[in-house]
Amino acid sequence: MPLLSKDEIKVRLPLEKVVENDLGTPEKRYSNWLHYFCPFHKNTHTPALGINLRTDTFKCFSCGKQGDIFTWHILRNNVDFKASLTYYRTQFPLLEQVSLSTQYQKKSLQVSWNKPPSQIWQAQGNTFLERSQICLWSKKGVHGRKELEHRGIERATAQAWGLGYNPVWIKQSGEKWGLDKEQTVWLPKGLVIPAFMDADLWYLKIRIFGRQGMPVKKVKGKSKYLQVLGSRPVLFGKNHFSGQENLLLAESELDVILAWQEGRHIFDLASLGGAGKHLSTQWMVHLLSYRKIILAYDADIAGRKGAENLKLLSKRLQVFTPPAEDLCAFYQEGGDLKKWLQDLLA
Ligand SMILES: [Zn+2]
Repeated sequence: MPLLSKDEIKVRLPLEKVVENDLGTPEKRYSNWLHYFCPFHKNTHTPALGINLRTDTFKCFSCGKQGDIFTWHILRNNVDFKASLTYYRTQFPLLEQVSLSTQYQKKSLQVSWNKPPSQIWQAQGNTFLERSQICLWSKKGVHGRKELEHRGIERATAQAWGLGYNPVWIKQSGEKWGLDKEQTVWLPKGLVIPAFMDADLWYLKIRIFGRQGMPVKKVKGKSKYLQVLGSRPVLFGKNHFSGQENLLLAESELDVILAWQEGRHIFDLASLGGAGKHLSTQWMVHLLSYRKIILAYDADIAGRKGAENLKLLSKRLQVFTPPAEDLCAFYQEGGDLKKWLQDLLA
């Protein structure tokens, strides 16, 4: 087996896992940041060390130490780069396909994120979801239905994927969801997208809608989506796999749903829930049996970079940029999604 390069290791091993392995669960989590007490200076008051999940880097807002997984190991153990490279190559055998499960689980990387959220969280999430599902098809759900129509998602499809619509912003105490008392769970107004694996609810994502009832536009630094606090990452779409020979990985959940509607007889479909997301080993296992894996990521920079990152994972991956900004935009421009999907395999 060839030795993995620095970049290949970085693609396969998110910093958050390395840090969690070292320091345990984070003190706090804010959108793309995990916060810890900084191990590089005396830090016991507010957790000054931030792990940026988007850029996969750490930064201490007090002592200024920063870097990636390699810097992390170098600073923590007072070694050089070469030693840190060897460390990751030998200590994290999550990198090759087959040995994943047993070997990997025995090693330290048991992250709580490998399990679904608590039963309390799931019960609360399901209650919210069921209410949203009823709302989507009632009078109050008109804006949600408009958005589905705009995206070309049919009613039967939306129901098959359990979509819902939440008509008002809701603020709940974390305690209600089995989280910490001082945490706040925000449930914005918008289209509710659940991610199930078997019967477990792993995450809830909401496409945020503004005051006028329209989906909010992209604003720099602000996401159009909110993932409900306490959600856990999972391979979105897995429950709808139907044993096709090939897999299409799309960037967003709504792209998966639309592509499923048009092409589920051609592909199984899945999403990692965003361009910057890494594929955790436990989900990678589900992809091993596919003959071809086609990545259709958005035509923006984040999408291209995400796709290129994933490509390093396997020779089976082929990257295709959707013919418009994303699959939904392609549909809106009158593109024949079914034909495009069919042609991908030709
Ligand atoms: Zn520090």
